[in-house]
Amino acid sequence: MLEIRDLHTGYGETRVIHGLSLKAAPGRMLAILGRNGAGKTTTLKAIMGLLPVLEGDVAFDGASIARTRPYEIARRGVAYVPETRDIFPSLTVKENLALAARTAPPDAAWTMERVIEFFPRLGERLANGGNQLSGGEQQMLAIGRALLMNPRLLILDEPTEGLAPIIVRQIHDKLAALKDEGLTMILVEQNFGFATSLADEVIIVGRGRSVWEGSSAAIRHDVDTQHKWLGV
Ligand code: ATP
Repeated sequence: MLEIRDLHTGYGETRVIHGLSLKAAPGRMLAILGRNGAGKTTTLKAIMGLLPVLEGDVAFDGASIARTRPYEIARRGVAYVPETRDIFPSLTVKENLALAARTAPPDAAWTMERVIEFFPRLGERLANGGNQLSGGEQQMLAIGRALLMNPRLLILDEPTEGLAPIIVRQIHDKLAALKDEGLTMILVEQNFGFATSLADEVIIVGRGRSVWEGSSAAIRHDVDTQHKWLGV
């Protein structure tokens, strides 16, 4: 569904990714792991058109999106939940959801009602401002907003960051439910246990390239690779 071939990207003169390739297959979850600063977020930004593809290619459904604008990539069915969550702090939960629901087709699978059913906690907080939410609620709202775009590919950057273990478990169960529905996902995570208990495939990024690829089960048993590239 999404394929990156020999990606080179970075910030201005600074190249961060030097020839990264990966594939996310339909209905599967791919986890991108790696130490702090390895280039995971940078890779996601290049997929979303937020950083330039300087060399190589990014293809979605077989068509290059390497020169496509971010809103057009989103319109084609790629939803991105950034590490910063990007909800509107001055709008209420309901307004945040309504804005995201605006572009949904009338027969969309994900409606505001369904998102509230999926995250009942959001239903209890509809009148609260985005700035009054806990970290877990913000993450639920960010995922809810992404689902309202009715994506075919959902990309999540460190959804568990800063969350209490009980909330991490709730997010885990929600992502597992989305996976059961057949939604294709790419997950960037520092939480090794969380990522490998959900993902089918894993790619480890180190020094701007892919340094290991395999299944979640394989990396869980490969202590040397964990130690060398993840510091687990
Ligand atoms: P983390 O878990 O810390 O987010 P990451 O693997 O997602 O790690 P990136 O955020 O992709 O890492 O950063 C990769 C490299 O790019 C780092 O060396 C970082 O310092 C650099 N970098 C990130 N953002 C910028 C920026 N806006 N300008 C310049 N360099 C940046």
